[in-house]
Amino acid sequence: MVRLPYMDGFYELRPGKIVALAKNYAEHAREMESDVPEKPVFFLKPPSALIGPGEPIILPRMSKRVDHEVELAVIIGRRAKRVPKEKAMDYVLGYTILLDITARDLQVEAREKGLPWTIAKGFDTFAPVGPRVVDKRELKIDDLEIGLKVNGELRQLGRTSEMVFKVPELIEYISSVMTLEPGDIIATGTPAGVGPLRHGDKVEAWIEGIGRVEFDVLGEDSILC
Ligand code: MG
Repeated sequence: MVRLPYMDGFYELRPGKIVALAKNYAEHAREMESDVPEKPVFFLKPPSALIGPGEPIILPRMSKRVDHEVELAVIIGRRAKRVPKEKAMDYVLGYTILLDITARDLQVEAREKGLPWTIAKGFDTFAPVGPRVVDKRELKIDDLEIGLKVNGELRQLGRTSEMVFKVPELIEYISSVMTLEPGDIIATGTPAGVGPLRHGDKVEAWIEGIGRVEFDVLGEDSILC
């Protein structure tokens, strides 16, 4: 569970599931040497991967290449089952930033073998969120700057207007497969510029209108006795 500032108080993120979009920015699909999909492609990240500001991203020993992906996260406010896109925004509570941390080497290996991405996307600490939850009534998400720096160096910079499938379409499509419950999170995909994280790095991510959030990166071996 992660607590983030929300309006005059706090919001406790306790998602039953985190639904994450793959290749939802064309430039990122290109850098992954993939085509833009005809329908949204999504996978699940476990809620156990969530961390909040002040907690470090841990690089697991099982991977030699862990990447950052900055994403706009949509938090569901009402139970949504087969919701048409015209009504989809009624089911949204608000927004935050989520980093879809990815063990890229394990993802590539899974892709080549036709195996699921669960391990590559599912390690503990692979879903940092923050700095706050913004109510949907306070923010229009159609065209916001979204970016990420590592140790002060710009790595990712895009705009939410570049999403291939917009949030209402995502909610329509996902809720035609699985019911979205209050508190569930949709990570809407990452712009181009994904790259590796190393022990000792400082990651800074931002989305216009939501704010900036920082995380330290630590190797798993560095925190074990
Ligand atoms: Mg992603």
